[in-house]
Amino acid sequence: MQIVSVEPFILHVPVTGDGIADSTHTLSHWGAPGVVLRTACGLAGYGYTGTHAHLPTDRLIAACIGETFGPLLLGEDPRAVRALWWRMNRHAPAQWVGRGGITHLAIAALDVALWDLKAKAAGQPLWQLLGGSAGKRIAAYNTDYGWLSLPEDRLVAGMREAVARGYRGVKMKVGSDDWRQDARRLAAVRRAIGPDIALMVDANGKWDLPTAQRFGPALAEHDVRWFEEPIWYDDVEGHRRLAEAITTPIALGEQLYVLDQFRSFIAAGAVHYVQPDAVRLSGITEWWQVAELALAHRLPVVSHAGDMVQIHLHTAIAHPACDSMEYIPWLRPVFTEPAEVVDGHYVAPRQPGAGTTLREDALARYGVG
Ligand code: MG
Repeated sequence: MQIVSVEPFILHVPVTGDGIADSTHTLSHWGAPGVVLRTACGLAGYGYTGTHAHLPTDRLIAACIGETFGPLLLGEDPRAVRALWWRMNRHAPAQWVGRGGITHLAIAALDVALWDLKAKAAGQPLWQLLGGSAGKRIAAYNTDYGWLSLPEDRLVAGMREAVARGYRGVKMKVGSDDWRQDARRLAAVRRAIGPDIALMVDANGKWDLPTAQRFGPALAEHDVRWFEEPIWYDDVEGHRRLAEAITTPIALGEQLYVLDQFRSFIAAGAVHYVQPDAVRLSGITEWWQVAELALAHRLPVVSHAGDMVQIHLHTAIAHPACDSMEYIPWLRPVFTEPAEVVDGHYVAPRQPGAGTTLREDALARYGVG
């Protein structure tokens, strides 16, 4: 079983409605620069990363996939995925210019495609290849009704709709210039959904430590399950101080590129809910390393869905530190088996592979560049 071709692609897929915004990002499309790896025996493995659909940047990722790392895989057996992951991560010219960022996202796409091939070669969905059981229940919480760009009445109506659709958890964005406005919106949402629905809050790294501290009492008053990315992504010491100052647990990880960053946050006691993302880390291989690290510290893993859930559904089913995950539907139209939620829980995928196989028309409809 040999890899005979490496074919990069770039997808730009519209997000919900007229676009969305959190405290830091404004989006009309979600980007998925990725790759198809074909084998001599006729299998196709699909992998991708997640971006804000900025074509010049996505082209750099695609070039890195096709020209920097792809040649390292030609002629190789994709089932040796951990060895190939190591080879890509230790490729000296790329390591020199980026142990995170564009080079890392390119490795993510290729690593995911390798796992997709390994699972397809075994004739199993990835969760099964990784040792998971279809009987494990993964709760879905909905992120797509909680955008900061929504006026309060639409925010509240959307949260009610999410609960009516069976979600037992929802996440709302905060991070306004005036934190008291966020506190009012938070109170309105809690009133609307009642006391029994899990409510998460996400500032996307916008605030400074004093602002995040002042927001703490509102989080406690409204029984917020976690405070996500309260301050700047890389600030280990700031998060540690915040964790000491407020009672609400802290969640983060979507902006961390490597295992070592997670080690620093966990060692400092600066994170409680660990949120690795396989398409921000260098793929499923490094995601698994972070999940094992979290498990060793008895911390829950709640993946960030930069993949729009397809890949992390498999890893969540397989890994004991996971029992819930966010839901955002943006990439549904491109996959042969989009993730499904029934009664607030994910349905275990049935198709062999990592959940990444593209529909035949996906490139024609959403391909760019
Ligand atoms: Mg987030």
